[in-house]
Amino acid sequence: MEQIYDVIVVGGGMAGVSAAVSAARLGCRTLLIEKNAMLGGLGTSGLMTMVMASRRWFSGLGKTLIDSLIAQGDARIIDDYPVKDYQRIPFDGEAMKRALDSLLLSSGAELLLYSHITGIEKENGKITALRVNGGEGDFRVTAKLFIDATGDGQLAYYAGEDYDIGDDSGNVQAPTMTAYYCGIDFDRYEAFLKTYEGKGDGIPKVNMIRELAPKAVADGVLSVCDLHHPGIFRISPCFNVGVMNAGHIYGAECISPKGLTEATIAGRKMAKEYLDFYRRYVPGFEHAYMTNTCSTLGLRETRRIRGRYITTFEDKASYRKFEDAVMRFDGGAVSDVHASSAAREAYDAYYKLFTAREGLREDDWAELPYRSLLADRTENLLLAGRCVSADRKTQGQLRIMGYCFMMGQASGTAAAVSVRSGELPGEIDMHTLQYQLEKDGMEI
Ligand SMILES: Cc1cc2nc3c(=O)[nH]c(=O)nc-3n(C[C@H](O)[C@H](O)[C@H](O)COP(=O)(O)OP(=O)(O)OC[C@H]3O[C@@H](n4cnc5c(N)ncnc54)[C@H](O)[C@@H]3O)c2cc1C
Repeated sequence: MEQIYDVIVVGGGMAGVSAAVSAARLGCRTLLIEKNAMLGGLGTSGLMTMVMASRRWFSGLGKTLIDSLIAQGDARIIDDYPVKDYQRIPFDGEAMKRALDSLLLSSGAELLLYSHITGIEKENGKITALRVNGGEGDFRVTAKLFIDATGDGQLAYYAGEDYDIGDDSGNVQAPTMTAYYCGIDFDRYEAFLKTYEGKGDGIPKVNMIRELAPKAVADGVLSVCDLHHPGIFRISPCFNVGVMNAGHIYGAECISPKGLTEATIAGRKMAKEYLDFYRRYVPGFEHAYMTNTCSTLGLRETRRIRGRYITTFEDKASYRKFEDAVMRFDGGAVSDVHASSAAREAYDAYYKLFTAREGLREDDWAELPYRSLLADRTENLLLAGRCVSADRKTQGQLRIMGYCFMMGQASGTAAAVSVRSGELPGEIDMHTLQYQLEKDGMEI
C-alpha cells in the first residue's frame, strides 16, 4: 500500500483525532494511523474516562465534542474541583469511542486501526515515508506532512529528534494501571468521605488516604504506602460504576518493551491490591467488582520532544504571551507532576506543586507558542499532545485531555495552512493560522 496523502497523523488519542479532523475538514487528504483497536488513546483504551479541562480556556473542537456528549447524556461536568481551575468531565467510554469514530470519518479523514509505525524514511531533513506494520505485513505510506500524536513522541524519535525523559535522572512520573469497578454504593462512600472533612489539611479523600494507606500497609493489604491517591471517580450518576485511578508503579521504565511489560504486570497486581483495600476499609465497596483493568497502561510521561521552542514553567507561571500563540492554558505556579518514587519527600513535592496558588490571576492565561508544536530538525513534522515541546512541569499541566484536544487542533490546522500555501510548517503565516483557529472555535 502506498498512497500520497497531504497529512498523516500517527496516534489516535484525543490529540491525534483532533489533528486529523482539523486537517481533513480544511480539505487535506488525511490518514490517521492507530496501533490499537480504538480511537481515544488513554481516554479509552487507557480507561481514563474523565476529561479534565480548564474551566475557562477549554475551547475548539474538543469542547464541541464534549458538549455534544453532555447533551446526549454520555458525559457530565463536575464543577467542584477544589484546587485548580479545572472541570472534571466523566464520560461513557463506549459513547466516546463511537463519537470519535464518527467525528473522524465524517471529516473525510481515512483511518487505519491495528496498524503501527515501525520506522520512517527521511531525506534532506524531511520525512518521505512511514513504514507501517499491520495484519498483512509491512507497508509504506507517504505524505507531504506528518503529525506525531503518539503520546510517546515515537515518530519524532524515529526522525532523529532530540528529546527529554522525566527528571534530570530520567525518572518519569509513575504510571498507573487504571481499572473499572461496578457495584459501588456511592451514597455510603460519600457519607464516609464526609467524616474526613477537617480531619487534616487536605480534601476529605486526601485526609482519608493519609490515614488508611499506612494502616493498609501494616495489615499487608497494600505493598506500598502511596499517599498520592486520585481515587475513584463515578462515571454515571445512574449506575454504580467508577474508574479507579490509584496505585503508582514507582520506578517503572516506560519506553522499552521490557520495561513496559514489567510495569504492566506490576500494575495488574497493584490494581487487585486496591480492590482489596477498598473492600476492606471503605464503606460502599463491600460488593465492588473489578470488571477490567486498562488495556493500555496509563503512562503520564515518556518523551518530551525538543521542538523549535521548549515552553517553560517560567512562561506558564508568568502568563507570558507569544506572537505565535496557538492556544491558551492555565497560568500560575501550579502543575500536576506525579512523583517518581514512593518517598515521602517526593509526595510532598508533588502536593506542593499541585496545590500552588502563588501568582494566580483569575482572568489571565498562559500561551502555547506554535513553535512548541514544530519538530526542530524535521521540516515536515508537527507534534501534538503529550509529547509537546515543553519542560517537565509545563508538560505536567498540558497533558490533560482538554489541552491535548487543543494541541491537536492547532497542529492539524497548521498542517492544512501549510498544505494550502505550499510553505513548510515553519514558514506559514501566523495570522492565517490564528485566524483559522479562531474561526474554528479556539480562543487565542
Ligand atoms: C493514570 C492517568 C490518569 C489520568 N487522568 C486524567 C484525567 O482524569 N483527565 C484528563 O484529562 N487527563 C488525564 N490523564 C492524562 C491524559 O489521559 C493523557 O495525557 C492524554 O489522554 C494524552 O493524549 P494524547 O492524544 O497525547 O496521547 P495518547 O492518549 O497516549 O494517544 C496516543 C495514541 O498513539 C498510539 N500510538 C502510539 N505509538 C504508535 C505507533 N507506533 N503507531 C501507531 N499508533 C501509535 C497509541 O496507541 C495511542 O492511541 C491521565 C493520564 C494517566 C496516565
